[in-house]
Amino acid sequence: MEKIEKGNLYIVATPIGNLEDITLRAINTLKNVDIIAAEDTRHTLKLLNHLEIKKTLISYHRHNEEIRVGNLIEKLKEGKNIALVSDAGTPGICDPGHIIIKECIKENIKIIPIPGACAMINALITSGLNTNEFIFLGFLPLNKKLRKEKIEEIKNSNKTIILYEAPHKLKNTLQELQEILEQRKVVIARELTKIHEEYIRGTIKEIIEKCDNLKGEIVIIIEENKNSKQENKLNNLSLEEHYKYYEKNGLDKKEIIKKIAKDRNVNKNEIYMKFYNK
Ligand code: SAM
Repeated sequence: MEKIEKGNLYIVATPIGNLEDITLRAINTLKNVDIIAAEDTRHTLKLLNHLEIKKTLISYHRHNEEIRVGNLIEKLKEGKNIALVSDAGTPGICDPGHIIIKECIKENIKIIPIPGACAMINALITSGLNTNEFIFLGFLPLNKKLRKEKIEEIKNSNKTIILYEAPHKLKNTLQELQEILEQRKVVIARELTKIHEEYIRGTIKEIIEKCDNLKGEIVIIIEENKNSKQENKLNNLSLEEHYKYYEKNGLDKKEIIKKIAKDRNVNKNEIYMKFYNK
């Protein structure tokens, strides 16, 4: 039987503002594929013109994802290489991508990530908040009940939380967050990699006072709940289990002992003595 050649699907990250934030590998991939599937072909055309790349563009966005996927899979099966790009940053992160990726896995088509810019990672690393453990929640749900449940989840989380938000909804969202989270520390990362890049740090209340008429693109990073019930659950573990929990999370002995002492509200020497021979 004739072997069906399969093309590859390349998931190519593009800049989130500054056009220099594109890797050499991303440029080469965009040059070498047969087709570029783009969230907004006009938007991607500007990037391609800047890079002096001429390529066939096919639109692939939230509203035609289900319809387009069959056609793109056919082309991949014919042996065509396709690059998937979104308007900004990493496809699949609050952008189309998930459906075609699932389909490629089903059809045994190779998916190759071409890493690059992503707003949430860059907001997190510059936030000054805990980067060891974090949760990305994307945009909060619009449905009131689900939204409230999510914010309750944030309240109890002992991990840094990252949210995307539109600027005109920021104040309202911060007010909703304040009702449940009260005085939690928050960082607003605005216009990352662009001329007006800015970080606003403070309690939710302080930020609400500063966020009238804020424009541009925004990421909200929320400090972990340091007294969360999730963390307190660790106190129900045996000391050995408690130790292993932090060990699995990559902490060294000194850090683990400090953490356990803090969780259990005991002197760290007491814990140190217990693990002296470990
Ligand atoms: N796929 C993108 C990524 O990798 O970050 C995210 C796309 S999502 C539709 C758009 C949201 O990402 C914006 O509403 C904003 O919250 C965030 N975002 C994108 N670019 C940004 C930037 N330059 N500065 C701050 N936030 C940005």
